[in-house]
Amino acid sequence: MTRPSHSAPHASTARRITAVALAAGLTLGSGLAAQPAFAVGDGPNYGGNETINTSILSTYDELAAELQKQDAKQSAMELEVIGQTVKGRDIHLAKYISDPENPTILYLTQQHGNEQLTTEGALTFIKSLGSGKMKGVLDGVNILVLPMLNADGAMGDVDFSLEDYIASGDRHLTRYNANEVDLNRDHITKIEPETRALHENVLQAYDIDYMIDLHHQGSRSRADGELVSGSILYPTTPNVDAAVLDGSQRLGSIVYGAIEPTGWGHLGKYVGGTGENIGRNGIAVEYGISTLLFEMRGMADHENPGSVLGQKSNGYLIKQTVTTLEATARAIADGSVETADTTFWDTLTEQSWAGWPAE
Ligand SMILES: [Zn+2]
Repeated sequence: MTRPSHSAPHASTARRITAVALAAGLTLGSGLAAQPAFAVGDGPNYGGNETINTSILSTYDELAAELQKQDAKQSAMELEVIGQTVKGRDIHLAKYISDPENPTILYLTQQHGNEQLTTEGALTFIKSLGSGKMKGVLDGVNILVLPMLNADGAMGDVDFSLEDYIASGDRHLTRYNANEVDLNRDHITKIEPETRALHENVLQAYDIDYMIDLHHQGSRSRADGELVSGSILYPTTPNVDAAVLDGSQRLGSIVYGAIEPTGWGHLGKYVGGTGENIGRNGIAVEYGISTLLFEMRGMADHENPGSVLGQKSNGYLIKQTVTTLEATARAIADGSVETADTTFWDTLTEQSWAGWPAE
């Protein structure tokens, strides 16, 4: 059920203004790459003095329209509908398959509906693949992008109450799908239509070598005394093949090397479970795909104040996604991922709870 107060009368005006602010933030970030344009750690935290509003985020319909627009514009791109959500929304897969002999990477976003900036970044990445910026990259790598797997959760179109969720704006966003199932615990049973579509029409349909599973976590995790902009982890089930695990760790090395030196990025090692119902583990074992989990800072909406993050952080978090996708696509295309140094994992600090900020 949606409370009337969430249907703000001036939502469209707010969206325009915030979209402009977001675009400005991104431009600033890329223009001042040498400087920490977005200081991690002193970014806004929830405390009632800044804005946690979901109106700035793309709706499912806006995402679908942009994908169709890019599909019409980009000759190298093919847009496929791989299935439907519980509520009947088409699930899209953007495909760039230049040569079946090339290595293939899958980028997956929003298994959890309230973790949306990864999807915004994936959209920017798709646009960049059609621009001169990524010229030549597609000659050496096949790219699959599956944005917003859990579209019903992202739109708050679910069969349970979101009344206690914190964000203001046009809609609430939730981790679960419409049936209140955590899709990232459904990779063995594959009961939900979203999980089935991913497995049957993507993981089983394409010869995939690498995968990055993009998420957001709480806003208060730290490593080495600083709040993290995100944390990464390879498969941790004992059943993963050694070569597959090595691929995951090399992929992680590319991500670490692209994000850590930026000034705005600071990565920790994620602390995650070994269950194969989790995508990072199950997909690595079932398909021999080298998976990497990337948990970025702060969710778009949640019941818990420690989980959400104000929208002033959106710029660097979207940029973190774009940087990750571009760097890994390039490293696979030019073969440098094959020799990436994995020893950084030995010293990468495990993240821990930073506690609440002082009043
Ligand atoms: Zn997640």
